[in-house]
Amino acid sequence: MFPAFCRSSAALRVKYGTSVLANSRLASTLVFLESSKDGKIAQSSMSALTAAAQLGFPIAALLAGSSASKAAEELKKTGGSALLQQIYVANNEAYDHYFAENVTPLALELLKEPEYTHFVVASSAVGKSILPRMGALLDFQPICDITKIVDSATFVRPIYAGNALATVKCLQDKKLISIRASSFPAAAASEATNAAISEAPQSSQVSELTVKWEGENLVKSARPDLGSASKVISGGRGLKNKETFDNLVTPLADSLGAAIGATRAAVDSGFCDNSLQIGQTGKVVAPDLYIGLGISGAIQHLAGMKDSKVIVAINNDQEAPIFQVADYGLVGDLNEIVPELTEKLSQNK
Ligand SMILES: Cc1cc2nc3c(=O)[nH]c(=O)nc-3n(C[C@H](O)[C@H](O)[C@H](O)COP(=O)(O)OP(=O)(O)OC[C@H]3O[C@@H](n4cnc5c(N)ncnc54)[C@H](O)[C@@H]3O)c2cc1C
Repeated sequence: MFPAFCRSSAALRVKYGTSVLANSRLASTLVFLESSKDGKIAQSSMSALTAAAQLGFPIAALLAGSSASKAAEELKKTGGSALLQQIYVANNEAYDHYFAENVTPLALELLKEPEYTHFVVASSAVGKSILPRMGALLDFQPICDITKIVDSATFVRPIYAGNALATVKCLQDKKLISIRASSFPAAAASEATNAAISEAPQSSQVSELTVKWEGENLVKSARPDLGSASKVISGGRGLKNKETFDNLVTPLADSLGAAIGATRAAVDSGFCDNSLQIGQTGKVVAPDLYIGLGISGAIQHLAGMKDSKVIVAINNDQEAPIFQVADYGLVGDLNEIVPELTEKLSQNK
């Protein structure tokens, strides 16, 4: 289990100087932001910026990859936090796929500066890959997937698949934090920031990289991204087969402009792609509206959706556990209820 108190490394104190947190005037946060090829900053990274702002210290953002400069200009225009004072860009295509082997030394180069007491990244695939590596190299315990910042040294994170919340006090000189994007709103556009854009100190290790990007197979969809959608329609094993899943879930999602999700049972049964899985071993969502169709409400599924603002469940078993977390429950056959609901919603469009 995660220790209640993180270890402070004497070796690192020697390397980085004495604890800077003792003097919070010198504390700063470095936030790593992911961006797309067209320079758009990921929603989850904008949530990381919100979390960084909640720490209350001046913020420096780090952008890497061939679109880093474009993303930096975009960030400068949209702002996002009054605390954002510095934007570092590492404009090198070697960072395009955010290999942990590359990004880690880049971030560590900046973290050498004693004022950076906090490093924040979204708990995305990228964050999950770089943070443990940074922790190992610095000999510091990362604090992963936090859902709340109590103060600059105290954080809340879910444990046991979200069935308990641990409040963790971290005494390390440098706090390496990944944030659960669904728990922090994406930083909204604010006034253009005066943050200076400058080149990040490049790491010499990039050229020594022994891993190679072979390609990617992305599921393209015109729907909102499941992880950040404000409405999610999710289907379970109760839909019985792929045909019913497509015939009932898709039109209902269309009528609401919602993203589609699923349980692991639905994914394993081949009803839909596994990128749609919500839960402990899938995506974590917290939309304004979540509608679950034919879903029992196993704890592993609840771990990924129970923070949704309004939960609606349709199930023919009134004892189904999902009704314990649902704000609205419809007990009945989804084959009758869902087409009727879709028709009514489409009429009201
Ligand atoms: C280590 C581990 C990790 C896991 N990770 C995940 C995860 O990330 N995400 C996840 O979802 N699961 C996960 N699971 C699986 C999880 O335990 C459940 O098995 C799964 O969530 C059940 O999916 P379900 O609700 O679709 O199916 P079921 O539990 O079979 O429920 C189907 C529901 O449909 C209802 N139903 C049937 N017919 C109708 C009808 N005609 N009309 C209305 N309702 C109907 C039934 O009453 C039932 O409640 C994990 C399990 C393990 C062990």
